[in-house]
Amino acid sequence: MPYVEERLKRGIYKGIGEFHPSAAPAGDPVVKAFVALAARQGLFRHAHTEAAEIEKLVCRYPTVRWLWAHAGLGEPFEAVARVMARNPVLVAELSLKSEVSTGRTIDPRWRDILQQRDPGKTPEDVRGGLIRYRGVR
Ligand SMILES: [Zn+2]
Repeated sequence: MPYVEERLKRGIYKGIGEFHPSAAPAGDPVVKAFVALAARQGLFRHAHTEAAEIEKLVCRYPTVRWLWAHAGLGEPFEAVARVMARNPVLVAELSLKSEVSTGRTIDPRWRDILQQRDPGKTPEDVRGGLIRYRGVR
């Protein structure tokens, strides 16, 4: 904890993580301390976990901004879509989530969910973001 607090003084970080909830239960004092730190500083708490666990974390700690690592990685699209729909404050990142695009084409289901999460974005905006992020066309 002191190491992370010292690093955060640099003011360049947007979140704390990844952490793997499987390593410690959600109520563990260390988990609570890092969640509280993230909430106090308005940082994301980056969690690498499956759908059921991220929902538990969002529910248990609603004052922190959760960033779901790899959108659950091995979780199928339907599970991710369901979790994202039920938790509008949850943010997911798509690193290592290879199913989002095949070659240079965005899977239309993922394009749709990305647009639903940010209705202000046009299909071109979504495509542009993925091009920058993943090289998708
Ligand atoms: Zn990870």
